[in-house]
Amino acid sequence: ATPTSIMVGTGKAAENGILFKGGGHLERTHQLEAIILDKTGTITKGKPEVTDFTGDKEALQLLASAEKGSEHPLAGAIVAYATENEIDFVDVDEFNAIPGHGIEAKMSGKQILVGNRKLMVDHQIEMEDSEEKLVDYETNGKTAMLIAIDGKYRGIVAVADTIKETAPEAIKQLKELGIEVIMLTGDNERTAQAIAKQVGIDQVIAQVLPEEKADKVKEIQGQGKKVAMVGDGVNDAPALVTADIGIAIGTGTEVAIEAADVTILGGELLLIPKAIRISHATIRNIR
Ligand code: ADP
Ligand code: MG
Repeated sequence: ATPTSIMVGTGKAAENGILFKGGGHLERTHQLEAIILDKTGTITKGKPEVTDFTGDKEALQLLASAEKGSEHPLAGAIVAYATENEIDFVDVDEFNAIPGHGIEAKMSGKQILVGNRKLMVDHQIEMEDSEEKLVDYETNGKTAMLIAIDGKYRGIVAVADTIKETAPEAIKQLKELGIEVIMLTGDNERTAQAIAKQVGIDQVIAQVLPEEKADKVKEIQGQGKKVAMVGDGVNDAPALVTADIGIAIGTGTEVAIEAADVTILGGELLLIPKAIRISHATIRNIR
């Protein structure tokens, strides 16, 4: 590989908003066979909004007050929803994030749990007739969270995030380049499948705990494939480091950008097939 052609290639990439941290990464991009994409903030815009809430006013007050302590995008949606509904927030005495499952908090002498089925099962909460509604939300691509106060089920809050407009086209182009495309998410299987369908992805790995994301990358590498990971979150950083090429979303967290080999400006997914085409053209020039 001549240093000059690599420099031309990374320069061309940079002009397009694809920032390689070094020439070696451009050469490795040429060898990619599979791409794993995180869902929230990578395939979707990462600006979720509450679409449904089945609880009462007290449940919303405790729910939103608790979520104020969380940095998760889901929490932001719930806090915004409560603010729009002019809910008075209460002081939280205790707050615990349970990664991949939800949150637990104490306030006004009460305990609240918000999160997925696993969280409720772990706390032995009786879910009454929530399952049918939950499935309905999830089938429509929404992330539904269950609420329990003092050990009793109190309702569901469902949140939706829209896909990036160019995501289907970007995935189509990746497939045309012969790349295997996989979605990786901590969200539940049904919601993940619904979003995957909207963008044309047929391989989904869902319900992955934050600390398991890197292991999933290793599994695919274990099949003998050169793999890229695309992500935006603090959660994605270990997977970005593990992948043969880590691609950070420019609008994502600083941690993800630092962990990655490449950053795509504005989180524009079309820049990923573009980067691959540039790498192919560069390596062709070398040979
Ligand atoms: P993602 O890959 O979508 O970022 P996470 O691993 O962060 O997924 O979260 C997985 C699941 O855990 C969420 O879909 C949600 O059900 C639950 N969860 C995470 N954070 C919160 C929170 N702050 N409030 C309620 N539920 C949460
Ligand atoms: Mg994300």
